[in-house]
Amino acid sequence: MNTTAIPLEATSSRPAAHQPVTPAMQTEVARKADVVVEFLRGVVEEFGADGSLVFANSLGAEDMVLTDLIARNALPIEVFSLDTGRLPTETYDLMAAVQQRYGLKLKVYYPNHESVEIYVRSHGINAFYESVELRKACCHARKVEPLTRALAGKKAWITGLRAQQSSTRSGLPTREYDDANGLIKLSPLADWSEKEVWAYIRLHEVPYNVLHDRFYPSIGCAPCTRPVAVGEDVRAGRWWWEDPQYKECGLHKSRG
Ligand code: SF4
Repeated sequence: MNTTAIPLEATSSRPAAHQPVTPAMQTEVARKADVVVEFLRGVVEEFGADGSLVFANSLGAEDMVLTDLIARNALPIEVFSLDTGRLPTETYDLMAAVQQRYGLKLKVYYPNHESVEIYVRSHGINAFYESVELRKACCHARKVEPLTRALAGKKAWITGLRAQQSSTRSGLPTREYDDANGLIKLSPLADWSEKEVWAYIRLHEVPYNVLHDRFYPSIGCAPCTRPVAVGEDVRAGRWWWEDPQYKECGLHKSRG
């Protein structure tokens, strides 16, 4: 199994972050942003009064669009992020930029240290490369268990998922019941394209992870993410050594 990164010279097209925004795209993105704000206002009214609505901010491009819309419209939605302990430095830089730009107090959840210690002592620091089972066990300790704590007592959570992100997310609705976590999952950007996400980011000068400029369309933990080549699926750089059918970390089980 090859775990080395694709050299940037192997790619030739510009990342979506640098595509020009046409007037037609600008109009369409403004329209879609209004739809999302209305959607968010509705769910704040439905779930927000008692603090039972949260936004899981993964700090990806889509989540930065949602962060901007929430902050710009002063929507009373709690925002949290998961720090797995294996994130790229650039993601921590973005976390700091978000707090500075928006004055948002990100509630950061960390893995249970005993679970991580047991995993590493039993299997090794990079055991996730060895099998799907060991990869999922690492994701469970570092992502799924902290997410379960973050969602405890909540009635609905907001995500930045898009239907076009991968084969495991096709047909994604804006609202569904999340059986795995026992609450409603809201994906207001479900019908957005990657170009629309980046048009919004450019038009509103939203901070984003600089790794996107280095051909990382989807960013997770540092050892499990690499750049993609031209024509590859946007999630091809995540757990690239596995078959696409396994490429979810357990945070979105109903999708994969
Ligand atoms: S993405 Fe990789 S390092 Fe991060 S939790 Fe999953 S297996 Fe572990």
